[in-house]
Amino acid sequence: MNAQVFYGPGDLRFEERPIPEPGPGEIVVRIEAALTCGTDVKVLRRGHPVMIPYVPTVFGHELAGTVARVGHGVDGWTEGDRVVAANSAPCGACRACRMGRENLCEDLLFVNGAYGEFIALPPRLVATNVVRLSASLPARRAAFAEPLACALGGVERGRVEKGMTVGVIGHGPLGCLLALVAAQRGARVLLIGKPGWRLDHVRALGIAECLAATGGPDPVAKLRQATGGVGVDVAVDATGRPEVWEQAMAAVGRGGTVVFFGGCAPGTSVAVDTRRAHYEELTLVGAFHHTPALVRQAVSLLESGSVVPDGLVTHTMGLGEVGAALGLMAEGRALKVLIEPSRV
Ligand SMILES: [Zn+2]
Ligand SMILES: [Zn+2]
Repeated sequence: MNAQVFYGPGDLRFEERPIPEPGPGEIVVRIEAALTCGTDVKVLRRGHPVMIPYVPTVFGHELAGTVARVGHGVDGWTEGDRVVAANSAPCGACRACRMGRENLCEDLLFVNGAYGEFIALPPRLVATNVVRLSASLPARRAAFAEPLACALGGVERGRVEKGMTVGVIGHGPLGCLLALVAAQRGARVLLIGKPGWRLDHVRALGIAECLAATGGPDPVAKLRQATGGVGVDVAVDATGRPEVWEQAMAAVGRGGTVVFFGGCAPGTSVAVDTRRAHYEELTLVGAFHHTPALVRQAVSLLESGSVVPDGLVTHTMGLGEVGAALGLMAEGRALKVLIEPSRV
């Protein structure tokens, strides 16, 4: 089969690899749709010892497809089943897992290999994070389950409810998914992004009130302005930049919640206004990754059509063009690129 193989930072190779055989407890999925992700761009640039501990490894982590082979001892799956697989599997036994916070699992198993024609899913993933799809849900939409589950996690952490005003700073794919989910819950959503074609594209999709902001204090001013000066009920950073974390804290109103959704570079820190945090009872929460329950919730939102993320796909390419696709992502010229292995 053809696959895009990660050899280390900056080293992605398009290669011929053997089609994986399913080991005991494994299933092999024929991939029909994979999606590029901002994380891919980061990982390709600097590597990721947790997500990709061993190289070479087939790259990519957002995928949907059809079961092609079933390994010994697998119950409940047969050839031809349509599935989506998350990119990690919790252990189910550690303290975090027992508390239902599997996203914080001390032994989270990450799975890569969306940019290939086939992938073997390990037993733990098969047991926890592979979800069946109905015949009517196209693979290209189902492949959103993983990032959508992350966005759902962020919105849950922010305890977003109907009638609230939610400010999302950052209009990348995850900022957009966060906005979609918050809107689906009945919130008024203000999405802040840099002016340019990407913001215009998102505005045209109609997923939120899009506000163009340049750097510095502008996002805070825009969010305050749009809420009559009181600030938003929930402010979400979807950029992973410490200065934006601070903007999110400045933009939230009394009693509000700030969700630190974007992961910042190691070693960075932010300043918290202690007066506001105390007297205005701000809630400051991190949000990371997803749980098996969130992945299932994401699939049902996609199945029911409550969340339709199709418009976030700005390009469709074949497996051989993943490098070019990630280049477009890095330059901010694509939101999400759909990779179809069947495309020549
Ligand atoms: Zn992703
Ligand atoms: Zn665990």
